Amino acid sequence: MPEGTFQNLIGGEWVKADKATSNINPSDLSDVIGEFPSASKADTEAAIAAAREAFKTWSLSTPQQRFDILDAAANEVLARKAELGRILSREEGKTLPEGIGEAARAGQILKFFAGETLRLNGELAPSVRPGVSVEITREPVGVIGMITPWNFPIAIPAWKIAPALAYGNCVVIKPAELVPHSAWALVDILQRAGLPKGVLNLVIGRGSVVGETIVQSPDVDAITFTGSVETGKAIAAKAVARGAKVQLEMGGKNPFVVLDDADIDVAVGAAVNGAFFSTGQRCTASSRLIVTEGIHDKFVAAMIEKLKTVKVGDALAEGTDIGPVVDESQLKQDLSYIDIARQEGGKLAFGGELLQPGKKGFYLQPALFTETSMSMRINREEVFGPVASVVKVKNYEEALAAANDTIFGLSSGIATTSLKYATHFKRHAQAGMVMVNLPTAGVDYHVPFGGRKGSSYGPREQGAYAREFYTTVKTAYQLA
Ligand code: NDP
Repeated sequence: MPEGTFQNLIGGEWVKADKATSNINPSDLSDVIGEFPSASKADTEAAIAAAREAFKTWSLSTPQQRFDILDAAANEVLARKAELGRILSREEGKTLPEGIGEAARAGQILKFFAGETLRLNGELAPSVRPGVSVEITREPVGVIGMITPWNFPIAIPAWKIAPALAYGNCVVIKPAELVPHSAWALVDILQRAGLPKGVLNLVIGRGSVVGETIVQSPDVDAITFTGSVETGKAIAAKAVARGAKVQLEMGGKNPFVVLDDADIDVAVGAAVNGAFFSTGQRCTASSRLIVTEGIHDKFVAAMIEKLKTVKVGDALAEGTDIGPVVDESQLKQDLSYIDIARQEGGKLAFGGELLQPGKKGFYLQPALFTETSMSMRINREEVFGPVASVVKVKNYEEALAAANDTIFGLSSGIATTSLKYATHFKRHAQAGMVMVNLPTAGVDYHVPFGGRKGSSYGPREQGAYAREFYTTVKTAYQLA
């Protein structure tokens, strides 16, 4: 394969697609990372057929076989985390430390699910009938179609592929066309770790072609998707219509509540990290900062002081705190929400300007709005960029009501030194994940991840809970 040209993995072979797309570095638009396939419907169908065929034997593989492959792949990912982090940061635009951290997380996820292959115990139940025994076991689902977004280009593919393989499924994955290199590197590592042909297939291309073919194929038993609400809902409707199992992780409008009694350094640290790190391009980003009136002015002043010290720049440069926005279309969306918030009467207290530090990239200064209310679009719709707004409220009760006043329910955070409010908030926040004195973004790899309301659909991802989606339960009765 010529350097800089990448291929799809179909049936264990690296296969060229007829068309290719350039992968561009958002920190420096003159930097072309490589040519990646733009796969066709036929390429996708070939990958699905290969996965179907491989499932016949892979579904009967031993836990030891699956452990060895996942463990070997985990070791390689962890050993190469600096290189993989650089690949990721170059194509997605998060800073190098963030990229390396994400690559390490992918390795840890593979390690965790290597162990899970050995922990898939069943249950025995006494029958209500004499002389009958009952066994409850889990079996693989079949061929899993995976459609992943651009904002976590290695961690999301890892947290979908690892449990799928651990529990004996075959995979067809379509990563976001914008950031295919990270997924390509992960799949290459897994394939070389010893996967039989066809167990894992990578098809890089457009959502409307590759994604659509995966969703519509009767040979794909289950679909796991992470991305926008609109695409997720359309995929779910098609999947459910043909009886496929489906799991969706979508957007958020995550609140971070700051109470009068909060430690101001903890509150500001968590708010800046949660709202703006990874360029605010996290489904768990704290885009609504809900602040009680006694601390409001002090909090806003401290946020502005902190934001003045934050360095926006090339993702690969040392000292960068926030990298560029991922592409032009996302930048347009961010800028349009900055305009909308202004027009609605929000006050732009900091940032929101386009920056060009030396090279041509999609650089946007973090934007902080104050004087916003819950009825404004800036507090209701997901921006998915470095844009956050402050909502002033009277007390804890109003803060909790505002935090829950959203169609989303992914992550919800609070800064407080009160045990009473922290405990109440953990119980009453309508979200899949709750953070006390921590950023809304940033989670462990061994426990469930997911949300409620409009943020998620279907079983949780990650940790042992992943088995709900990637296995199907069998209840066997036997007359002794
Ligand atoms: P999408 O939901 O459009 O994309 C997510 C994935 O779905 C990509 O791999 C995409 O392919 C694929 N896809 C697109 N259309 C279809 C289809 N018809 N059938 C099957 N698969 C499809 O999100 P975008 O990347 O376009 O981002 C748009 C917005 O979504 C962002 O601005 C942000 O608000 C939100 N978002 C939320 C994320 C989250 O984690 N919650 C992650 C990413 C985005 P491809 O793009 O390669 O064509």
